[in-house]
Amino acid sequence: MDLTNAVPGRPDGQLQDYEAARQVSWDEEAKQFTWWKTGRVNAAFEAVDRHVEEGRGDAPAILYYDGVRDETWSFRRLRDDAAQFGDALRRLGIGRGDRVFLFMPKGPELAVALLGIIRIGAVAGPLFEAFMETAVQDRLADSGAVAVVTTPTLRPRIPRERLPELRHVILVGAEASDAEAGEWSYTELMKGASADSPVEWVDRESPMLLHYTSGSTGKPKGVVHVHNLMIHQYRVGRWVLDLRPDDIYWCTADPGWITGTSAGLFAPWLHGVPVVIRGGRFQQEGWYETVEKFGVTVWFSAPTAFRMLMAGGDELPKRYNLSSLRHVLSAGEPLNPEVFRWGLRALGNRIHDNWWMTETGCTMITNYPALPIKPGSMGRPLPGIEAAILDDQGRVLGPNQLGNLAIRAGWPGMMRAIWNNEEKYKQYFPFEGWYISGDSAYRDEDGYFWFQGRVDDVINTSGERVGPFEVESKLVEHPAVAEAGVIGKPDPVRGEIIKAFISLRQGYAPTEELKQEIQQFVRNGLAAYAMPREIEFRDKLPKTRSGKIMRRVLKAWELGLPTGDLSTMED
Ligand code: ATP
Ligand code: MG
Repeated sequence: MDLTNAVPGRPDGQLQDYEAARQVSWDEEAKQFTWWKTGRVNAAFEAVDRHVEEGRGDAPAILYYDGVRDETWSFRRLRDDAAQFGDALRRLGIGRGDRVFLFMPKGPELAVALLGIIRIGAVAGPLFEAFMETAVQDRLADSGAVAVVTTPTLRPRIPRERLPELRHVILVGAEASDAEAGEWSYTELMKGASADSPVEWVDRESPMLLHYTSGSTGKPKGVVHVHNLMIHQYRVGRWVLDLRPDDIYWCTADPGWITGTSAGLFAPWLHGVPVVIRGGRFQQEGWYETVEKFGVTVWFSAPTAFRMLMAGGDELPKRYNLSSLRHVLSAGEPLNPEVFRWGLRALGNRIHDNWWMTETGCTMITNYPALPIKPGSMGRPLPGIEAAILDDQGRVLGPNQLGNLAIRAGWPGMMRAIWNNEEKYKQYFPFEGWYISGDSAYRDEDGYFWFQGRVDDVINTSGERVGPFEVESKLVEHPAVAEAGVIGKPDPVRGEIIKAFISLRQGYAPTEELKQEIQQFVRNGLAAYAMPREIEFRDKLPKTRSGKIMRRVLKAWELGLPTGDLSTMED
C-alpha cells in the first residue's frame, strides 16, 4: 500500500480487518433484528420499542437542548409518544402507505412524529424547515401528501388551497382554538389518543421514507426508501459510526435531509445509542458548547459546517473541553484536506469523510477509525458494498482512471423508486447490474476512492480533465480563501477554462494582486493547467440549504443561462 501521506488509524475501531469484514454477509446484520425471529417487521419498532421490550426503556434516546429547553427523553417516553401519535393519525383515517410530511424545526416532537408515522406503516416525508412556499408546495403536491405536521409559524408556507389531497394539518405548539378547519392541535390530538396502540407489521419492502434530494444538480427527486434500509443503517452504525453502548452521538444534519434521519436517528437508535439534538441555528460557540455539555463522543457533520468552524480560528475550540470526542465524521460534500488537517489540530481528531447520496440510503464509501486515512480520499466501500469506476459504455476501469462512480445494484438500503417518476429511476441503471451515481471519481491501487466532482461539473481544459474539487481544495488552503466554487467556462482555444468563485476570509480585500497571488498558489501547488484563469470574488457562494455549493447556479450566472430549480437555495 502506498501510505506515504496517510494518517495512521487508531487501534480501537470496531472494524479491524477490512478484508475479513467484506466476507460478513448482510444476514449477519439482519440477525440482530427481532423480525429475524418473529417475522414481524417495522423499522420504528426496531429503533425504539424494542429497547423498551428488552428492558432498556430507561436509557436515554434523545438529549435535547436549544438554549431554553433542556430535556432528556428515555426510549420509553419516545416509544409512548410515538405510539400515541400513531394512534392519533389512525383516528384521522391515516394508515399504510399514506404520505405524511414533517415541516418543523428539529426537536423531540419531530422525532415523535417521524416514528409515529413509520410505526403505523405510513410514509414519512421530512422537509427542511427553511423551505419557502413553492418548495413546500412542490413536494406536497408531487407526493400527494394527506397530512403535514408543522408549527403555527411555518403554517403560512403551506398553500392548502392548492393542495387538494392534503386533508390534515397538525400544528405543534398551537392551542385547539388556533386550529382552523382541517387543522389540529398536536397537544389535543395526543390527549385523545392511546399509547397502547399496536405496531403496524409491514413487509421489509414497504416504503417508510420519502426524501427529496438536495437539488444541487436540478429539480429535487422524491426518493423512496423501504423498511429494509434498517439493515444498512445498522451496519453503518457499527463500522462507520463505530458506535458503542455508552456513546453520546451527535449528527448535526437536519432530518429534512437523509443524513439527518438515516445516520442522524436510525443508525444510532438501532444500536440503542442516544442522539443529541441541538435546536436553533448554526453558531460556532454553540456547537463547541454542545459537544462539551453532553460529552459528545461521536460527532457527524458536513464540510460546510467544519469550514465555518475553521473560519472561527484555532483558538476558539481551545476554550472548550472537547476531550470526549472519539470519532468525527463528515458527509455531503467532499472534505478538503485543509479541513481534515484543521480537524487534527483543533478537534484533536481525524475527520472521517464518508460518501453517499439520498438514493443510496446510507453510507457507501468511507474512512474507518482503525484504518489509515489518505486526506482528500473518501475511503473504501462499506463491507457488503461493491463500488467501481465505469466508463461511459459501462466497462469497469482500472486504478487511477477517472470515470463514473458506480455501485453494484441491490444493496439493502438502495432506493426502491423515484416517486411518480419511473423514467427517472431507470436512468440510474443504464448498465445491467450497476447503479450509476452521477459523480466522477477514481480508485487508487489500494482501493481508496477519490471524488472529483459531479460528472457534469468535470472540466475539460486543454485536453486535461480536472475535477472542481481538487482545485477548490487547493484554493481553500490559501489563507485568504474561506470558500471556493469552481466551474468550467467554454473557451474557443482551450475547450474550457477554469473559473473560480471565491469568498474571502475576514480581513482580506478583493484586489487584483490577491487574484494573481491565488492563481500562482494553485499553479505552484497543483498544476499549471489547473490554475483558474478567471477569479471572481463574491461575498457568498450560492448554496443549497443543506450547505452544498451550487456549481450549476454559478455556471448559469456566468453564461447568462436560466438557473433552473432554486427551491433549495439559501436566501
Ligand atoms: P440533486 O440530486 O437534487 O442534484 P444532491 O445530489 O446534492 O442533489 P444529495 O443526495 O443530498 O443531493 O447529495 C448527494 C451528493 O452529494 C453526491 O452525489 C455527491 O456529489 C455529494 N457528496 C455526498 N457526500 C460526499 C462526500 N463525502 N464527498 C464528495 N461528495 C459527496
Ligand atoms: Mg444527486
